[in-house]
Amino acid sequence: MALTRSQNMSRIRSTNTRAEIRLRQALWQKKLRYRSNFKIENNIRPDIVFTKHKLAIFVDGCQWHGCPKHYVRPRTNTEFWGEKLKINVERDILQTHQLKLSGWLVYRMWEHERQKNKDAKCMASFSSRCD
Ligand SMILES: [Zn+2]
Repeated sequence: MALTRSQNMSRIRSTNTRAEIRLRQALWQKKLRYRSNFKIENNIRPDIVFTKHKLAIFVDGCQWHGCPKHYVRPRTNTEFWGEKLKINVERDILQTHQLKLSGWLVYRMWEHERQKNKDAKCMASFSSRCD
């Protein structure tokens, strides 16, 4: 039985996506210890946080955050989902901005970016900050 769009949407998890889990594992292997779901300020809760080095990482879900490659505009409740997306995207921009103002290094990656080189690139930016 086919799922309706909204059922489908509700099944898209906004946290702990495969990409995020992969990144967590890669960091763990590199002995880079982070905090997850750590609240920084103004209720900003990046997916991965290195408190000591002021590094915040967000792994954005393609559907929830409007990935240019994968976002699919729902066919039903378009107004509701459109508004939801708009709020998410605006919040992302605002939070990134706020964190940067407070001296954080912010790294945002898309859920679909799970290739090894992307993880490596991500790792490289930590190391330069951590050394
Ligand atoms: Zn995507």
